[in-house]
Amino acid sequence: MSATQIHSTVDFARPGKQQGTLCIPYSYNLGGWANLLVPIAVVNNGPGPTALVMAGNHGDEYPGQVATLRLMRELDARPEQVRGRLILIPALNMPAAKAATRLSPLDGRNLNRSFPGRADGSPTEMIAHYLTTVLFPLADIVIDMHTGGRSVDFYPCAHMHLVEDRQQRRQMVAGTLAWNSDFAFLYADIAGTGLLPVEAERQGKIVITTEMGGGEPVSAAVHRLTQTGLRNVLVHFGLLEGKKVTRAELNLPPTRWVQSLDREDYRFAPESGIYETLLPLGNEVERGQPVGLIHFLERPDREPTPVVANTAGVLLATRGPSLVAQGDCVACIAHDVDPAILE
Ligand SMILES: [Zn+2]
Repeated sequence: MSATQIHSTVDFARPGKQQGTLCIPYSYNLGGWANLLVPIAVVNNGPGPTALVMAGNHGDEYPGQVATLRLMRELDARPEQVRGRLILIPALNMPAAKAATRLSPLDGRNLNRSFPGRADGSPTEMIAHYLTTVLFPLADIVIDMHTGGRSVDFYPCAHMHLVEDRQQRRQMVAGTLAWNSDFAFLYADIAGTGLLPVEAERQGKIVITTEMGGGEPVSAAVHRLTQTGLRNVLVHFGLLEGKKVTRAELNLPPTRWVQSLDREDYRFAPESGIYETLLPLGNEVERGQPVGLIHFLERPDREPTPVVANTAGVLLATRGPSLVAQGDCVACIAHDVDPAILE
């Protein structure tokens, strides 16, 4: 089976603004013919690009969900500021967002490892398949806002893959810069396949993504960066009217491009324990410098085990929960980028 079973109450071709839901059929013990409802909005104002704006791919990542909800309400009041077409989904993995979990409580799946998805799969696989076969083909620009969730705390930044196609790469670099974050981050997929951005990139889309911090508390500064960044990116691509703001105009230094493209840049806990992070995010680290210590509650006599940076760089992300299990990612060391690869 290849046709989606998901029904949309909005018509993407119709001019004007609409708010509705994606209806994903599923069954549970008290609902044989139930629908999982995922809110969606579309504002279609004639010629121009189409941007697909999404958050809540992982449920426990909230700044993007708030930014999308705010934008939905703003566009409902003033839809005339859109040029082209904007499609907004504040919580892609709705059951996970409601449960504050990374994985869907309906099927235990990670949406961001479920692409290209399955038409006849579980709810999460069906959402992935709908994006792959219905929404990505409509879009020129795909924006997917993340944080490190509860597991990782990132220095809030926009990030992207180094796609092969240089024209696609240049457009992604320009869009990533429009977020006006202190760092822009080139990342590698060290934990599996089936990611949303990879499928959208494969379809040739301009993919803009973020890691806006992490954890349950979200500071006002992170909310503000997510919201102003999203708007600035949409202005940059001509989707929203207004003047694009640069970091220079904000009296900020240029965005610093960093990369973690080597598996060794991602540090994993060699054993379980309590993780003590030793440095603030954004700090420079030397080769061999400990960035964290693992303490052993049951063995106070043991020296804590250091987690060290294998190369000099910047501490871009650190462990969220203090308790770590063997194999958890506890730190990410990033390195300055050769500007030539961004052109
Ligand atoms: Zn995420």
